[in-house]
Amino acid sequence: MKFVVLTIFPEMINPFLDNGMIRLAAERGIIDARAMNIRDFADGKHRVTDDKPYGGGCGMVMKPEPLSRAIHAASEVAPTARRILMTPQGRPFDQAMAQKFAASDGLIFICGRYEGVDERICMDQVDDEVSIGDYVMTGGELAAMVVIDAVTRLLPGVLGGEESAEKDSFSGGLLEHAHYTRPYNFGGKCVPDVLMSGNHAEIEKWRRETSLIRTFLKRPDLLEQRCFSSEEKKVLTEWCKRIEDLVG
Ligand code: SAH
Repeated sequence: MKFVVLTIFPEMINPFLDNGMIRLAAERGIIDARAMNIRDFADGKHRVTDDKPYGGGCGMVMKPEPLSRAIHAASEVAPTARRILMTPQGRPFDQAMAQKFAASDGLIFICGRYEGVDERICMDQVDDEVSIGDYVMTGGELAAMVVIDAVTRLLPGVLGGEESAEKDSFSGGLLEHAHYTRPYNFGGKCVPDVLMSGNHAEIEKWRRETSLIRTFLKRPDLLEQRCFSSEEKKVLTEWCKRIEDLVG
């Protein structure tokens, strides 16, 4: 999978590509990721990439010509990649989108700065507009790194077991169960007995149950559209009964 990040700050991206699972994925040949400097495609001695907004007002806007040339150059590196504009006005990034992107050939990220990019770039040189949340950052670089990170860990051969990504939070519409490691007793808090029992069926049951309950407690919105299995209905009914008994 090819990733190309178009940015005026490639030095923000390179350390990210040089560490952890992203570096490992590149070493294994699973991803080919690089940053390209938009400034290299700008004209003149000063290679200016921004200009004042038409109609007045504060802030600067990223000029269309360098961006357009950079997108063209990135498309030569990754001809079948989707071109993604990072913008707070885009579709909110989530695990389902990460899965969709993981099934694609590659991604080209266009990182804005200042007030954003000239609208004519958004009109016909971009396949998707993506936001990483309802807040405004100073640039699209962190957003592009978030997407690369979430997509890369879904690619086969990146995580230890193929299963790890499937069991993660959001994959099955629920948050993941809790994790424990050694020591058994940490500051007086012990690991739940069931995890020490060696009974794999019971452990799986406990994991499914706690996954459902913690989703209900932490993110009830995730359950609104869910078709509950009969096991899940039973778990929730039992919990309701326990709560009723407690307050009743
Ligand atoms: N004036 C713009 C915001 C510009 S922020 C507006 O109000 O919509 C500058 C750049 O940071 C954007 O071009 C975009 O690339 C990036 N950016 C900021 N917040 C972002 C977010 N939540 N998700 C993705 N990119 C973001």
